[in-house]
Amino acid sequence: MSAAVSVTKRHKKELEDAIQLAEEALAQSDSEKARTYLQQCTETGTNTEVNAKRELQRHKKAGKLTRERIVKAGFLCPKGDLQTLGYLTEVPAKWGPGGTKVNGIGEKHTCTRCSTLFRVAPLRRTKEEEGQDAEACRFHPGRPRREPTSDAKTRKVQRWTCCGRTVDAQALGDDRCAAGPHVFKEDSEEELHQRAAYTTFERLAQELDIDDGALEVAALDCEMSYTTAGLSLTRVTLIDENGDIVLDELVRCTSGVQILDYNTQFSGIQPEDYEKNAVLDLDSVRRALAQYIGKDTILVGEPTNLDRSWARKRFTCDPHSAHQCGGYMPAISASTRSSFSHGTA
Ligand SMILES: [Zn+2]
Ligand SMILES: [Zn+2]
Repeated sequence: MSAAVSVTKRHKKELEDAIQLAEEALAQSDSEKARTYLQQCTETGTNTEVNAKRELQRHKKAGKLTRERIVKAGFLCPKGDLQTLGYLTEVPAKWGPGGTKVNGIGEKHTCTRCSTLFRVAPLRRTKEEEGQDAEACRFHPGRPRREPTSDAKTRKVQRWTCCGRTVDAQALGDDRCAAGPHVFKEDSEEELHQRAAYTTFERLAQELDIDDGALEVAALDCEMSYTTAGLSLTRVTLIDENGDIVLDELVRCTSGVQILDYNTQFSGIQPEDYEKNAVLDLDSVRRALAQYIGKDTILVGEPTNLDRSWARKRFTCDPHSAHQCGGYMPAISASTRSSFSHGTA
């Protein structure tokens, strides 16, 4: 018997069964159950495909992250605790409206990679042009790591995770394995507020007149690139409670701000892809997110402003860092991953 014939026969039988079950459910005033029976019988494909789809649905249901599950597990972090943990939950009035120093061109900063003091400038394409050399900085993109040794007497050797060279090898000459422009990043929330002002999801919802549609639980991931404004947000991904991506956008830099290094190794952002597809700017992306994140949405993510190490794990719905954005929880801020996490905290 061909697959098509088997599907038709099975489908007819299933349809009849489903209608009967749905009628029974309706007789007991259980319209939800009736709908489920009818939905199930609309499945198409071979027996194997249908079974695989059902299995997937079962898995999804079992893995669905709900408010109830998070609360029950004790993973919900109340706003008061967030403050204690060092998250920014309110923007001090003395910081003003923010956004006073959108771009850092001309400012002096210490390079995050090589510690050289440099003047922030866009990259120059030719030697004659004003600006920064695209390979002005020599550095190790990785971290030093101690090599495990079984012999307690032997001095532990530290090696760079990027190239495997020993950390003290530099004494013998410049051994740094990568070259790029000098870059900087800011950690202070006040400085970030001046690059791009904090806002709240509550405020955005009011402005946009949104009063429903927010997800119960959502996971947010951000990718950052080095720009003339520091470390800026260049990609946002939002995942719902089923693990489905509801928004995945490259974020265009504010006018005048230039990308110095896409940070592709960590962000995964390819320059060609960014140039072609980054359409929305920060404000637009915030507005798009406000359609899904409300004041009661529980946001799950890594607490990046507490963990400033560059752990760049992909989004895993880690319930250890579930937070609720109740009350005056600031929405996405300006330009760094850490400030973004304040918005999501
Ligand atoms: Zn290296
Ligand atoms: Zn440098």
